[in-house]
Amino acid sequence: MSLLDWFDDQRKLKLLTAPKYKHPQSDGSKGLWTRCDDCGMILYIKHLKENNRVCLECGYHLRMNSTERIQHLIDSDTWEPLDEKLSPCDPLDFIDQKSYKERVEEAQERTGLKDAVQTGIGKLYGIPVALGVMDFDFMGGSMGSVVGEKLTRLIEHATNNLLPVIIVCASGGARMQEGILSLMQMAKITSALQVHQSQAKLLYIPILTYPTTGGVTASFGMLGDIIIAEPKALIAFAGRRVIEQTLQEQLPDDFQTAEYLLSHGLLDLIIPRSLLKQALAEILELYSFAPYKKSN
Ligand SMILES: [Zn+2]
Repeated sequence: MSLLDWFDDQRKLKLLTAPKYKHPQSDGSKGLWTRCDDCGMILYIKHLKENNRVCLECGYHLRMNSTERIQHLIDSDTWEPLDEKLSPCDPLDFIDQKSYKERVEEAQERTGLKDAVQTGIGKLYGIPVALGVMDFDFMGGSMGSVVGEKLTRLIEHATNNLLPVIIVCASGGARMQEGILSLMQMAKITSALQVHQSQAKLLYIPILTYPTTGGVTASFGMLGDIIIAEPKALIAFAGRRVIEQTLQEQLPDDFQTAEYLLSHGLLDLIIPRSLLKQALAEILELYSFAPYKKSN
């Protein structure tokens, strides 16, 4: 082994053993420093926050929680939340290592949210929009009955008030602890979107962030009129290992990244976080004149 290889091995080893990036509010450590998931650079959390959690060294987009997303996208003092009080119940009395009830309570306490999505109405550079933001910190952003119901109500509210819908996706998929009830949310949200897009002729834009997987990718994540992703976002239905084992094939390194999906026609745009609000405003502006809004 050459000296250079040895240094490279040491660097990789350090990256592997380094503590994973966690949101400072959710891990309770309130530390000053964190490490980039991609390049391993040590970052001052205050500067990272000012830079919208984009690594100052390599530009990697670290995870944002739903409140930070809303602050980033919505003009200050214009956010009006919807259905804030909706909280999940435990219809199956589900227990794995812990009971579902305990898991929900723990997540509610840690994040200050009732479930894994925040929805509401606000202005984006003065343009009124209906916005839904999923929160990965709440049980991996999993989609249960409350997430499905809140998003459906948001879309229906937007349809009735002629507003465009934007949903920021970050999810591990359907919430297993709610069984089939979580899977039916896919169809419910899709039906509401069908009315919003095809009948009311209104715009819907999903923004796919790291990670968007499972039932979210298989339903509203991919139904946008324009589908936007963040750079290097993981977007998938089944996991990489499952696909490799099923197909008995080695998959390319960039498989299931936003860049791979864009080159294969599954996305319309990859937009860096620093330009996202401006880009959304321009798209909304453009579509407000679109001829397809005239009823047939
Ligand atoms: Zn980095």
